[in-house]
Order: sequence, then structure tokens, then C-alpha cells
Amino acid sequence: MQKARIGVTGLAVMGRNLARNLARHGHPVAVHNRTSARTKALVEEFGGEGTFLPAETPERFVESLERPRRLVVMVKAGGPTDAVIDEFAPLLEPGDMIVDGGNANFADTRRREAALRERGIHFVGTGVSGGEEGALLGPSIMPGGSAESYEALGPLLEDISAKVDGTPCCVHVGPDGAGHFVKMVHNGIEYADMQLIAEAYDLLRHAAGLAPAEIAEVFRTWNTGRLESYLIEITAEVLAHTDASTGKPFVDVVLDQAEQKGTGRWTVQTALDLGVPVGGIAEAVFARSVSGHAALREAARGLPGPSRTVMAGSGFADAVEKALYASKIVAYAQGFHEIQAGSAEYGWNIDLGAMATIWRGGCIIRARFLDRIRAAYEADPETPTLLTDDHFAEAVGDAQGAWREVVAAAARIGVPAPGFSTALAYYDSLRADRLPAALTQGQRDFFGAHTYRRTDRDGSFHTLWGGDR
Ligand code: NAP
Repeated sequence: MQKARIGVTGLAVMGRNLARNLARHGHPVAVHNRTSARTKALVEEFGGEGTFLPAETPERFVESLERPRRLVVMVKAGGPTDAVIDEFAPLLEPGDMIVDGGNANFADTRRREAALRERGIHFVGTGVSGGEEGALLGPSIMPGGSAESYEALGPLLEDISAKVDGTPCCVHVGPDGAGHFVKMVHNGIEYADMQLIAEAYDLLRHAAGLAPAEIAEVFRTWNTGRLESYLIEITAEVLAHTDASTGKPFVDVVLDQAEQKGTGRWTVQTALDLGVPVGGIAEAVFARSVSGHAALREAARGLPGPSRTVMAGSGFADAVEKALYASKIVAYAQGFHEIQAGSAEYGWNIDLGAMATIWRGGCIIRARFLDRIRAAYEADPETPTLLTDDHFAEAVGDAQGAWREVVAAAARIGVPAPGFSTALAYYDSLRADRLPAALTQGQRDFFGAHTYRRTDRDGSFHTLWGGDR
């Protein structure tokens, strides 16, 4: 009986397209889904694309895989992933691999990896980015798990990943949950990037008085420069789109309540645990949250604000471009700081430059900009922040005047710009000679005897505040 090189269980949009991608690359692929109608449909519709070995039962599926078995799980993250592991693990043998390509929480991946390692099974938590199109045409792939498992899986995954300049957008990220951790932060950065673009649009609309179609043109121009990216490209398309039933700009007929699935929130929760400031990602998550509080917004709608008049003159779009670029550098610097901190906390030894390299293609945040990040880590792999890299320091230095003007303009006319503002505050906090944290320490010592350290000598100090307390 012909054996498959790899198998995919879970054949909704992602799993089906990954299986097709594997088959199109000449890898015989076993396919299975809890509800077998999906398996049948895949083979009926796309059977001509390559060699699919359909299996109706987990036993037949596992039997049809060559050893060591490579079994990709693409099911709903959370309980379903545990259910699938419980079902398949007893059928596997030491040396076999379970690849979880779902959007799992990295803590779950660490737990699953440890449990399966005891049974000799490699559990490979793998970030897959790029949505359904990426899965079919070449995603960015972030596998964790053991180095041994990567030896057996790497060539296959690299083969089906996106390529940029001939380099696969897939690399072994690090042990256990490292792959899912990096995918989580990738999504957090994506939230921040999208929020910054949304603020740029809002300012061009309300401060410069441009119509959506005109703003689409601005974004198209930006997409030929340093901001060139998939997100800027699709933003121009969305803004240029007209709603067929009303003839209005599409963006004006969409309910302004942004939804989220959870990876942005996890990024912020994890950053809080690691003590890493990721204000750009946090504000992006909160901005979606604020937008969704319809009753709260309705109650507050009449609160006074400045008279919102169109105020920006010529050159404002260029200023917004600079503010956007500078804020984007900050958001990525914060995300990479979180990866650096996670890597140190869990002993993953993640190569940050390699992460920028594999995000250049296949994924939602793919951008010309990532080449710059790669170069920054090549120049100094230990850099504490991307902001001090020569290129980025110069770019932010050049942008900062315009950046401040844009944030000030947003405040003056009452357009919320939490992403731009928090990025600027972070930048100013990092470069400050002294921070008011000294006063915070004084307050803590006053009310709670929490002690403070001094600038002029070592040790912990406490002041006896007001004798009658
Ligand atoms: P999905 O809607 O998240 O999940 C549907 C699949 O999960 C179906 O195959 C379903 O089987 C299976 N499933 C659910 N509960 C199960 C259980 N208890 N036991 C066995 N199978 C179960 O599918 P998706 O959108 O293709 O995403 C798959 C994974 O990729 C998810 O973890 C998702 O977060 C991740 N992901 C998605 C995207 C994207 O753009 N959609 C991008 C990156 C990563 P039945 O057909 O039998 O119901």
C-alpha cells in the first residue's frame, strides 16, 4: 500500500489548503477530518492536484503514514486540539511527530509537548500565518518543538512555505512553545500595524478632509515607498471600494466595531507577565475593545470636544506618513522586545533576525520594512531595542518633528490616535534623561514603606515621613 509522507487532520479552510499545498509540491498526503464529508469533498474537488490518501478513521489515517509519522493537526484551537491529541497519540509510536498548526496558546503547547515527550512523541507547535491563501500558496511557518523533529519536518515545511529572494519563510524557531509564542507576537504586531494604519486614515479623513477614494490614492503612493507592505496595499483596496447596494464608500457602510479572536490579547497578557512594555499592541487591542462597547459609546456621544474643523494644510499627508513610519518602528521594536524576553524566560535562544526574515513573505505583516529589521539584528544580534539601530534611529529622528505635530493635531481636533500617541510616549520615555518614576518611588515609600534606591549610593532606603503618621 502506498504510504503518505505527511498527513493532515482537520480539513476546514486552513487544513484543506495546507494539504493541497503539500500535494501540489509532490508530497503524497494523507487526509482526515472528524466529519468525513470534508475529506470526500477535498478529494473530489482537488484530487487532480496531487496524491491524496483519504482516511475515514484515525486508525486508517495513521496506518497510511510512512514512519516516522508526520501528522499535522489543523483543528479549532483549545479543547478540540486536546481531543485530537487524545485520539491520535495512542496510535503513534516513539519518534512520530504531531504538528499543531492551529493558533494555540504557547502555554498549552508547552504542556502538550512535555506530556507527549514522556511518551517519545515529538509535539511540534507551529505558527502558520497568511490565512487561507497563504496556506495554499505559501505561508510563513514558525515551527517550535525539538531540533530532531525539525530535521524530519523542516525540508517539507520549507518546501511549501513562501519564498523571498529564494529564502524559505520557515525556520526552526526554538524548543517546545517557541513557535506558537512567536506566532502570537506576530499577530500582536499585526494588531498594532492595523491600528496605526486606521489612525492614519482617520486623520487624513478628519484633519485633512480627504474622501476615502483620495485616501486610497495616498496609501497607494505610500505603498511605493518605505511603508510598502501587504497591509498598506489592501488598505488602499478597501478604501477605494464602493458599496454596490448604496453607492457609498464601502468603509462608510461597515459597522465601526472591530472584532478579535484572542492572539492580540494573549500578546498583551504575556507581555504583562514578562514585564515588557508593549503599549502599541495594547492600545490596538483596547481600541478594538472600545469600538465594540456600543452602549458605552452611545452614552458618551454628547460629551463636549473641540470644534472639529478641518485644519490640516498641505504637507499633512507627508507628516502622517512620517508619524506612521515612526510609530510602526516602535510597535515592531516592542514586539521584538517581547520575543527577546520570552526567549530569555523560557531558554529558547530565538534568532530575532531569522524571525524578521521569515515574516518577509507569506504572512499578513509581510513588508519591505522587515528587511531593515533583519539587517539591524545582523549588525547587532544583542541590540536591546531596534530603535537604536542606525537606520531606525535616523528615520525616527527625521520623523519626530512631524510625528509630534500629528499627535498634537489629533489632540487639538479630538481625533483619537492612541497608537501614534503611545508610540511617541514610549520613544520619549526611553530617551528621557530622568523619568518621574523617582517620584513614584517616593510616593510608594511614603504610603507603604516600599523603600527606594538612590542615585548616589547602593542599597535600599526608607525615609521616616511626617512624624505623626
Ligand atoms: P476552524 O474553523 O478553526 O476549525 C474547524 C476544524 O476543526 C474542522 O476540521 C473541524 O472538524 C475541526 N474540529 C473542531 N472540533 C473538533 C474536535 N473536537 N475533534 C476533531 N476535530 C474538530 O478551522 P480553520 O479556520 O481552518 O483553522 C484551523 C486552525 O488554524 C485553527 O486553530 C485556527 O486558529 C488556525 N489558523 C487559522 C487561520 C485562518 O485564517 N483561518 C490562520 C492561521 C491559523 P469538523 O469538520 O468535523 O467540524
